[in-house]
This record gives sequence, structure tokens and C-alpha cells, in this order.
Amino acid sequence: MTVRAVVFDWGGTLTPWHDIDLYAQWYAYAVEYDPVNASALAHRLLANENARWSQQRDTAGACSAGALDQLFLDEGIDVNAARHLGALSAYLDFWAPHTQADPDAAPTLAALRGRGCRVGVLSNTMWPRAHHEEVFARDDLDELIDAAVYTSEIPVAKPHASAFTLVLDQLGVTASETVFVGDRLWDDIDGAQRVGMRAVWVPHSAIPTDQVPAGLDEVTPDAVAHRLLDVVTIVDGWR
Ligand SMILES: [Mg+2]
Repeated sequence: MTVRAVVFDWGGTLTPWHDIDLYAQWYAYAVEYDPVNASALAHRLLANENARWSQQRDTAGACSAGALDQLFLDEGIDVNAARHLGALSAYLDFWAPHTQADPDAAPTLAALRGRGCRVGVLSNTMWPRAHHEEVFARDDLDELIDAAVYTSEIPVAKPHASAFTLVLDQLGVTASETVFVGDRLWDDIDGAQRVGMRAVWVPHSAIPTDQVPAGLDEVTPDAVAHRLLDVVTIVDGWR
């Protein structure tokens, strides 16, 4: 058996899971953008975001949630205006403590690359590529990633097969020689296995129950990584 590539989910996988108050993220934006009407604006942004994530879930990723900018455009916000950019900066400051890489992430990716494996990222996200790249550069992961697919840039999302094949194509590998690592049994593990990848589950995320479809008891990961460095041992066993 050959393992030529390992593809990682981002949130809850390369970063430890954090419970996030999703209203608070939007209040951080709104109180900068429009202090007088901050609460109402935050509620509308949250409702729009939730509707987009719900549509993505309900279509099994056939429709991605789209790009963050769309939430602002739907509010009539000029995404080039200084007022918006200042508020966006407050939003990103809110997220900063929650996007720190797992301390195992860099040594894990480096060990895999040292074995000749290519490393990919496939994230269901509304964030633009630039936000993700800033976070990876901050945590010294940017040089360790060969290809990254962000669903904010494409019309589909995990668990849709096309999301997985896009990152395989970018890495120049086939599904059967690729391992996927993720924290969600449906989006990540079942989705990767359905395209023919082996899937490793990181089992520590407290995923909200309304984001978990029924039938997950039928999903069995090929391996479980209790910490990220376990992925190296698991891959060694498959090589
Ligand atoms: Mg995740």
C-alpha cells in the first residue's frame, strides 16, 4: 500500500476545537461598523451565515456556503470602505485566539513530508484564502502545505465528492493513495471514504447537534488519531 498524500481538514483538526459564540463574532464586527445598530446588524449577519451553512448541510455540500464577503454585500456594505475594513479587522481579532494551530500540527506535517508525502488542506469555510494563509503563516504551517482548497472559492463543499477530488487533483494523487484527516464523521470521514480515501478521525470536537445528520453510527473511520502526531504512526503502518 502506498500513501503519497495526506489531506487535513482545518477547524477542529489542525486547530483544537473551540466552542465559539457565533453571535459574539458578529457583534465584534457590528459594534465597529455601526455602534448604534450593532445588535440588529449582528443578528442579521448571524442569521444569513446560519442560513448558508444550513443550505450547505441540507444539500450534502452540493451548494457551498459561499464567501464571507457575500454576507456583507447582502447588507449593502461596501467591502472596500475603510469603515468595513476596520470592522473586519475587529472580527478577525475576535477569531485570532481560536485559530491557533495545534502544537502537534507543524511536527506532524513536517514528519509526513519527510516521508515523501504531499500535504493538503480541504476546509469548509466562508473565509477567503488570504485569511487562512495569514493564519498558517503566523503558525509556521505555510511552508508545509502543498495545496489548499477552501470552499469559499468553489461551488461545492465536503462531503460532496467534487470537493475531495479538487484537492486530489491539485496534489496530483489518486484517492486510493491518499489519507484524509478530519474531526467530522459526516463531512470528513464519510465523504473521504466515499471517494476512496482512507480516513482518520480526530475525535475531540464538540460539534453542535444541529450540525450532525442522522445515521452517523454507520460511519467507521479507518483509524482514530487521539492526538495529531498519531497520524504519522498510522500512516507509517499503512505504507
Ligand atoms: Mg473540522
